[in-house]
Amino acid sequence: MRTMVTIALLVAGVCLSDVCLGASYTVTVNDDNPKTIHVSGEFALESSTIAMYITRSPQLEDGQAALVRNLVIKRADGEPVTYEYAGIGDWTLAANVGDIVHVDYDVLLEHDRYDWGPGIDEVAYRQDDGLFFTGASLFIVPGHTSTHTIDVRFDLPSGWKASTPWPSVEMGTYSARNVMDLVRNCLFMGTHLEETVTIGDFTFILAVGDRFKSKLNLFVEAMAPLLPAYVEMFGGMPSESRYLVVINPGNRSDGGAFPGSYSMLIRGEVNRTSSAVWGHGIAHELLHFWNGHTIAPASSSDEEWFKEGFTDYLTILSLSRTGLDPRETTYRKLENSARRYIIAKKLMDITDSMRAAGAEKHRKRFLVYGGGTLVAFALDIRIREATENAKGIDELMSRMYAEFGATGNRYSYEDIVRIATEVSGKDQSEFFGEFVDGTGFLDIGPYCESIGLQLTTMMDEFYIAEFSEATPAQRAIIASMLGTRGAAGGTGISR
Ligand SMILES: [Zn+2]
Repeated sequence: MRTMVTIALLVAGVCLSDVCLGASYTVTVNDDNPKTIHVSGEFALESSTIAMYITRSPQLEDGQAALVRNLVIKRADGEPVTYEYAGIGDWTLAANVGDIVHVDYDVLLEHDRYDWGPGIDEVAYRQDDGLFFTGASLFIVPGHTSTHTIDVRFDLPSGWKASTPWPSVEMGTYSARNVMDLVRNCLFMGTHLEETVTIGDFTFILAVGDRFKSKLNLFVEAMAPLLPAYVEMFGGMPSESRYLVVINPGNRSDGGAFPGSYSMLIRGEVNRTSSAVWGHGIAHELLHFWNGHTIAPASSSDEEWFKEGFTDYLTILSLSRTGLDPRETTYRKLENSARRYIIAKKLMDITDSMRAAGAEKHRKRFLVYGGGTLVAFALDIRIREATENAKGIDELMSRMYAEFGATGNRYSYEDIVRIATEVSGKDQSEFFGEFVDGTGFLDIGPYCESIGLQLTTMMDEFYIAEFSEATPAQRAIIASMLGTRGAAGGTGISR
């Protein structure tokens, strides 16, 4: 009896033909101005539960799953499967592991009516020329343990196309590597502009909304110098070399990076002046392909200060070094980080440590992003001072890449402290303990002064300027950190 059960499970779970190993989905949009989108899928069950990987919304407890309608589940022979909705995006089926099921459902295109933790740019939205979706907002999946590929077909109105991060296997069909590749990415369907751009070893599929069609070159010009700078900083390529980039106009500027794609919404005009915001956003999301996706933490929330704060600091450095940001803009950005940090600590009264604040990364973003940026800035200076400017934050990141990026191992807080200590040759545990794991207030004034910068501050006002009498050693540190391309000479402050 025991043997028979085992064999039955083996046959059901592993399946004997190739056809039933991989899952497949068809996404159907019926007209140019749809109210719903239809999805049908076929897959083998990994358990009796199927799910949507939902994003929290203050108004929708069940996230995107609250917008699923008309779910019908059948077996391969057409026999209906009964199910119950179990909450937070889970459906429990009267079926067994390994059963092949066919799901059909509609998704109401009403995501724009709700607020979402990370922003609508990481969920789903409509544009005049099409529809944006993350895989998590579109696909009900059987779990994520299967290693088989997933075919995604699109049945779209005439003149529409689908831009996806997945390679095309035949006309209109794309192949995701596995369930996580399917749900942790974004796509755009519509009449938008799609252009494939090769930059060094990278291929980008740019999907750009109608209003930004004439700005495509500006986006490419912003990305082109950054990619080799990032490869050099980390000492290698990120985990992917092919990415989808979706850029559309929005009510607020925001962006989100996924393992093989990123999504940007830009508010207002796109030109060189406003690149302080949109160019920064693109640079920040690109950097996440290394710090966040290739180098990833063991805990999804405790190290947000490193994922977001360090990414933003490295973005500021890289935009300065490549000359994309003039030095004045670079100092404004550091001032903004200092402002965010003091607002979080003194006005919003966030009493969490920077690490703990990661659990509510979006609500406490001023501490996570602003504070994390200042920790990176201070640590960069600590390493440079300890090594006579032979090393800096770049060595910390390339060590993180070598130890965790290339291997796929996950890092912990202790790993960051250890590597910072090794790179600087000086114990950094007290610094991290006080300002990252603890709740001490990090005053960047002395750090600025030590490298020849004057920080003038009152309440939430911050002004950073270069001393005209900075020593050659101080100037050398600033040049190592910020490069020389954005420099236009000091602002002439004497002391
Ligand atoms: Zn980010």
